[in-house]
Amino acid sequence: MTILETRGLTYSYPDRTVAVQDVDIKIEKGKKIAFVGQNGSGKSTLFLLLNGTMKPEKGEVFFHGKPFKYDSKSLREIRKSVGIVFQNSDDQLFAPTVYQDVAFGPANLDYPREKLESCVNRALEQVGLSNFKDRPPHHLSGGQKKRVAIAGVMAMEPDVLILDEPLSNLDPVGADEIMDLLNEFNHYGSTIIISTHDVDLAYRWSDYVYLMSDSELIGEGTPEELFRQTELLKLAGLRSPSSLEVYHELERRGLAKGEQSPKTLPELVNALRPPELMWVDVPHGIKEGDTLNLGILYGEYSPNSPYEAVNAKVLHIHPEGKAIVELKRRSIKAGGILLYDTDSYSYPEILNIIEDGDITFVGAMGKKSKTLAEEDGIFLDVTSGVIDRSILTALCGKRCLILTGGGMVEHAFKRIREYVELSGIELNVGIFNTEEELPWLEVLEESAEVFRV
Ligand code: ADP
Ligand code: MG
Repeated sequence: MTILETRGLTYSYPDRTVAVQDVDIKIEKGKKIAFVGQNGSGKSTLFLLLNGTMKPEKGEVFFHGKPFKYDSKSLREIRKSVGIVFQNSDDQLFAPTVYQDVAFGPANLDYPREKLESCVNRALEQVGLSNFKDRPPHHLSGGQKKRVAIAGVMAMEPDVLILDEPLSNLDPVGADEIMDLLNEFNHYGSTIIISTHDVDLAYRWSDYVYLMSDSELIGEGTPEELFRQTELLKLAGLRSPSSLEVYHELERRGLAKGEQSPKTLPELVNALRPPELMWVDVPHGIKEGDTLNLGILYGEYSPNSPYEAVNAKVLHIHPEGKAIVELKRRSIKAGGILLYDTDSYSYPEILNIIEDGDITFVGAMGKKSKTLAEEDGIFLDVTSGVIDRSILTALCGKRCLILTGGGMVEHAFKRIREYVELSGIELNVGIFNTEEELPWLEVLEESAEVFRV
């Protein structure tokens, strides 16, 4: 059931700052709702519109399907039903004692004395401040002040409780207390709406999230739906929730099960892949604790790198020769690309490289290099798209040789280096026989493996 709704809600301050623009929301009764957005995105202004403190310039607000009216009697009704707790408690608390502060709202509603007392006492009890009745609010801690402010609103028994940045300036213990309180009110039926720029809080706490940016609503959904959209979050100047970031990193490395949205530590732990166990036939002479190689995975079967070895640790050997093993995958480095500078060309040298360098294919770039190879009868596997084909070959763990000259060596090396930087997959690149000055080669020398022949 929709309890609070807005259609085309728009508000500008007298100085013409547009604070809320064309906002449509539908708040379901009994839910926990978070509005997330950077400072200045329009959350506080929207909240003031939601309880009639301010009147929209355009659009309407509906409570239980009825549009807000702005005469004083209707406004009193609205403010009783939709209570708001300001970000800064000092803006809300002004009476000399805690009791008088909490009683202010219900007293304005002309509650009879007895009802007033019971409402105030119950609200103070709910927030755990019954013993603070006679204290001046401004002597309390931040968390206690916040609880007084909440009690002041709860004393009017609202259906909807709105809290603007309820945890700002609270220490962790005070913050936990406030969130516990909100969960308790929600448990007993209150609809709770908060604003925050704390994505972790919004992600783990809320049932539904609205994302605000620059006075507009730019996204909404369950926290799982909304916080999956990293681009949208970026647009709003927010980051992903930490638990999702950790999870995605684990998933990327094949350490977590896919398609999960862990919110809590236990959910995160639960998303971890269990060790994979299987029965295998063991060769003679293998003992428990030994490692077996079960083969190599390529391409799409190898999720983590182009090339993976599947190893297994032998946990238990059954008398009939079968064993239980725990699977462990190990990424293997990709293959290599050797660039041969044909500006100083030696046929025997190239033959040596092909024979001893474990070369899977030979490619040539540039007319001169192709002609040289042809004249000497060097079989060229590739003559076009050579660099891309070489990268693909190297990704499958193989080695290839590119014959090229006339400055193309540097070009090819740069293209490969760009790929390495972009993909994060390290390829081995060797430059052979070059006479060019390549200032950048030195930097990469450590990761480059020059094939020896
Ligand atoms: P948030 O609560 O998300 O930080 P606000 O609703 O406070 O956002 O602000 C929305 C926009 O309205 C901002 O551009 C802000 O500078 C402006 N604004 C807020 N209060 C006032 C005001 N009293 N007068 C003029 N502009 C204001
Ligand atoms: Mg604000």
